[in-house]
Amino acid sequence: MARIVVVEDNKASRELMTYLLSAIGHEVTVAADGEHGLSTIERQHPDIVLCDVQLPRLDGRQLVQKLKQHPTLKEIPVVAVTALAMAGDRENILKAGFDDYISKPIDPENFIIQIRDLLAKSRLTNGE
Ligand code: MN
Repeated sequence: MARIVVVEDNKASRELMTYLLSAIGHEVTVAADGEHGLSTIERQHPDIVLCDVQLPRLDGRQLVQKLKQHPTLKEIPVVAVTALAMAGDRENILKAGFDDYISKPIDPENFIIQIRDLLAKSRLTNGE
């Protein structure tokens, strides 16, 4: 079980991710804009953050920059969840500071596999 914060302004996408992550046993907290996302991440200190790129108030790129400069939150993996066409390309996403990338529209089976792999990777990195 992991604690996951999902930052996504699109309600359908937010609900789908929450449903899938909960179904495989994770604890999910959602935020619908970047500023709320930041305060939620500060409060929750989750294992991983899934973050849309185009967000109201503070967009995903600004949010990940703040997190990566944050003394206690910078180690949390932040995964961009967005359509490639929106994001530019994968390289730009990684350059913006995101640790990884999941593409939209979300394919439930692929999404679950990607989350499992991301969590396994971050646990290896953290030596858990
Ligand atoms: Mn969005």
